[in-house]
Amino acid sequence: MKTQVKALVVGGGAVGTSIAYHLGKRGWDTMLIERDELTSGSTWHAAGLLPLFNMSYATTHIHKYSVDFYKSLEEETGLNAGFAVVGNLRMAQTEDRMDEYRLYASTAETCGVPYVFMSPDEIKAKWPLIRTDDLKGALYHQTDGYINPADVTMAMAKGARQLGVSIERRWQADGFHWTGSHWEVTCT
Ligand SMILES: Cc1cc2nc3c(=O)[nH]c(=O)nc-3n(C[C@H](O)[C@H](O)[C@H](O)COP(=O)(O)OP(=O)(O)OC[C@H]3O[C@@H](n4cnc5c(N)ncnc54)[C@H](O)[C@@H]3O)c2cc1C
Repeated sequence: MKTQVKALVVGGGAVGTSIAYHLGKRGWDTMLIERDELTSGSTWHAAGLLPLFNMSYATTHIHKYSVDFYKSLEEETGLNAGFAVVGNLRMAQTEDRMDEYRLYASTAETCGVPYVFMSPDEIKAKWPLIRTDDLKGALYHQTDGYINPADVTMAMAKGARQLGVSIERRWQADGFHWTGSHWEVTCT
């Protein structure tokens, strides 16, 4: 195990492996340590919903990057992360909720995220099993989908390793301090 690296990433969940992957991609000498197994934290419990659009302009752009990245990651690693673009239907029972969706739509338009408004009849035509008698309508984002959080983490870990990143499991960071020239991390 290396004892000196330019970047040490602590934690092998979706976020840590992504950071390690992207640092590796930039040519940084990087090591990731995980106290247990990769994906054993929150990542293991996530539903994996990937709503491309949300009300934050910056987050929407990060999500857009992720969608493109997940496609290229599969090509790069040969691992299928279960990415499925199935669409996301936000249904409204009140005019106030529809109004909220009109606000969403204006943000989506600014970010270049496609959307359509659907009437209850259009919803029914697309998904006959839905009961629409109490609906006012819906906002549909066709580019939203889901991914398997554990599988995408493993794919990023493989991609990171391919870029020269070391990944060490069963190592826990217990503390760190600044020596004046670099950070020193204590691990067990
Ligand atoms: C029930 C549920 C459903 C969710 N659904 C969604 C969803 O649909 N869509 C979505 O985008 N997000 C969802 N999330 C949120 C998502 O799971 C988290 O945002 C994401 O997994 C966080 O990743 P992470 O890498 O930061 O954390 P984690 O996956 O928790 O990873 C942290 C890792 O760090 C390790 N660690 C901690 N301390 C140390 C240490 N001192 N030394 C070494 N290792 C250490 C842990 O063992 C762990 O493996 C959901 C979360 C939950 C719980």
